[in-house]
Amino acid sequence: MGKTFDPEKEVKKDIDKTFDPEKYEMTFCPLCQGDGKLVKTPEGFEVCKECGGFGLIKKKR
Ligand SMILES: [Zn+2]
Repeated sequence: MGKTFDPEKEVKKDIDKTFDPEKYEMTFCPLCQGDGKLVKTPEGFEVCKECGGFGLIKKKR
């Protein structure tokens, strides 16, 4: 319908609700388990290298 699909925006909006990453052909990041961050550091936290802090990665086909 000419609507631009922005997966990142959609995911962030829906992530606290019943979110189905499969719908977006994505999957929860195996490295951070969808957390987007790894270990806590004095500066805050280390952003997950796998998903870049997003918590989800593109599903491999
Ligand atoms: Zn990750």
